[in-house]
Amino acid sequence: MRTLPVPARRQLEKVYAFTTVTPHVKRVADNGKTVKYLLRLADGRTIETVVMQYDATARSRARTTICVSSQVGCPIGCTFCATGRSGFDRNLSEAEIVDQFLTASRDLAEGQRALTNVVFMGMGEPLNNYAAVVRAIRRWAAPDTLNFSPRRVTISTIGLVPFIERLSTEGLPVNLAISLHAPDDELRSSMIPVNRKYPIAAIVGAARAHAERTGRRISYEYVLLRGVNDSVEQAKRLAVLVKHRLSHVNLIPMNPVEGSPLAPPSKQRAQAFQSVLQAAGISTTIRATRGLDIDAACGQLRARQVQTVLAPA
Ligand code: SAH
Ligand code: SF4
Repeated sequence: MRTLPVPARRQLEKVYAFTTVTPHVKRVADNGKTVKYLLRLADGRTIETVVMQYDATARSRARTTICVSSQVGCPIGCTFCATGRSGFDRNLSEAEIVDQFLTASRDLAEGQRALTNVVFMGMGEPLNNYAAVVRAIRRWAAPDTLNFSPRRVTISTIGLVPFIERLSTEGLPVNLAISLHAPDDELRSSMIPVNRKYPIAAIVGAARAHAERTGRRISYEYVLLRGVNDSVEQAKRLAVLVKHRLSHVNLIPMNPVEGSPLAPPSKQRAQAFQSVLQAAGISTTIRATRGLDIDAACGQLRARQVQTVLAPA
């Protein structure tokens, strides 16, 4: 604001902040197509945000997707997740969620690119911070801010049923990704403790209702863990569960987490799992891994950073 006198500008700088998140570490991988930020918040805590560029294919246009965090840490505590293993600090504010988008956008603008999609697949359980997440989506969508359509936003959830139901009544056409990861309650509860409260049938029921109501596709996320949930038998059971209109399964070979014995299956085993689902008529993809060399999976860069800060090499 160069039209203001210098003392007024200095005073404004002192009293107001332009952003609630400041890049602390930035790492680039996949020939510049994956960028991971460790962002520092005003209270010194850190969160992760990842930007991934995808080239156009025969079936889809080029995309630039930002993966945002909704909480510092996560209270759900899934066994295979770096964030879950690091505990929970606090919810992010609406501004801290909005600012992840703005920070990445400014960086991208230098290369003449803009964000086309948002996924809530960073740190935290978005439906556990429901009000701030919904407000942030509405803020991006407002015509006088970014005019960014909720149709290009995906909320990924571990399955907090009452909030999935509430989301369906918001009049927000967001996409829903359900982190299912197991075809039966016994196994799922051993990986995801909150499954005891909201079992698979209730989650899939709420997801189907959301699809019917909004017309948006449900993506079932399934992290493949070698010898745990990756057998042909389990694929058959999964196929029965998720066979409904507007359903899609996204298989994610596990990104190894330091200190965890869990590991991804071989490529052949993952493909055999996918074939079972496809034979049952379910649209299924295996997610390409991104940024392995920069700890791009949920919570991993922060875990590494905390380690180096505490015990410098
Ligand atoms: N809490 C939400 C959103 C954040 S996690 C949820 O769980 O859906 C985003 C995705 O990353 C989820 O599908 C989650 O299962 C997956 N994920 C977590 N740890 C992973 C790992 N080690 N390897 C691969 N995917 C992982
Ligand atoms: Fe939380 Fe999602 Fe990680 Fe589970 S997978 S601990 S819900 S961030």
